[in-house]
Amino acid sequence: MSNFRINFETGEQVIYSAKRAARPKDFLEKDTVDNLEYKKECPFCVGNEESTPPTIYKVGEPWIMRVVENKYPAVTMQEDQDIKGIHYVVVESNKHNCNIDKFNVEDLERLLKLYIKVSSDIYKNPDMQYVQIFKNYKREAGASLEHPHSQIIGVSFIPNNILKELDVSRDYYYGKESCIYCDEIEKELNINKRVVIENEHFVVLCPYASLYQYQTQILPKRHISSLFSLTEVEIKGLAHILKDLFERYRRNLGDIAYNMYFHCIEKEVKEYHLHIDICPRTNIHAGFEISTGAIINSVYPEDATEVLRG
Ligand SMILES: [Zn+2]
Ligand SMILES: [Zn+2]
Repeated sequence: MSNFRINFETGEQVIYSAKRAARPKDFLEKDTVDNLEYKKECPFCVGNEESTPPTIYKVGEPWIMRVVENKYPAVTMQEDQDIKGIHYVVVESNKHNCNIDKFNVEDLERLLKLYIKVSSDIYKNPDMQYVQIFKNYKREAGASLEHPHSQIIGVSFIPNNILKELDVSRDYYYGKESCIYCDEIEKELNINKRVVIENEHFVVLCPYASLYQYQTQILPKRHISSLFSLTEVEIKGLAHILKDLFERYRRNLGDIAYNMYFHCIEKEVKEYHLHIDICPRTNIHAGFEISTGAIINSVYPEDATEVLRG
């Protein structure tokens, strides 16, 4: 297996160094999130709604999920700023200890529909060029609060990582007249070395040049660039895949920290393909990675696939 790989979609360089690998059982740590349904000092818990900005969207009565503006926003719509933006927090559950890996399929479907509704409303603002949906789980992944939550940030520019993916996929498309991601899905399903799970509508891969240990990428089998193109059946299919995948992470690796993010654009194009990445934060990108931009990963994606298939 090649120990040096380049991510075709982003150009990122990855060195695999299996000798440094921690075996999966090294991660199997116990839950470190307090196992309480309610915590008095938590601003997202039921009864503490006054400690957050007002609810803008909610699901259920009085609520099982709600969306508020971030109390400490990274970006705002203030007129005098070069970059404008909208920063929301999605409180995913009314229970402090119910992270989305414990959700049932219906809850995951509700959450996905909430993401879609909020993103679509952000794009109605003509200044908004890009909407990022993401989740930081646990402190090592950047979360400052334990209560299950994700974030949605709309910004008045297209960030570099998206521009880079758009550039590469456009070049590929004009060379081959096909989508780089569609081709990758077909190839991966054929060789079947990095496919963790699939259903009728989605496939989960450990990407060929994964930057993070046990990183996975969820891709719709149908060519879609925008979250707004997902049909009702596909949303259900995605909820099933997320449930299965989160259970696999917990079963095989324990309660690990991770970032999950959606890469998609507002409107359909032939060359860009929606994907959702889950990046466990079990390895730290340190001096070498920061200085060179090349990443050292001690778990080959083929080995990660084996573990997550378990
Ligand atoms: Zn809470
Ligand atoms: Zn495609």
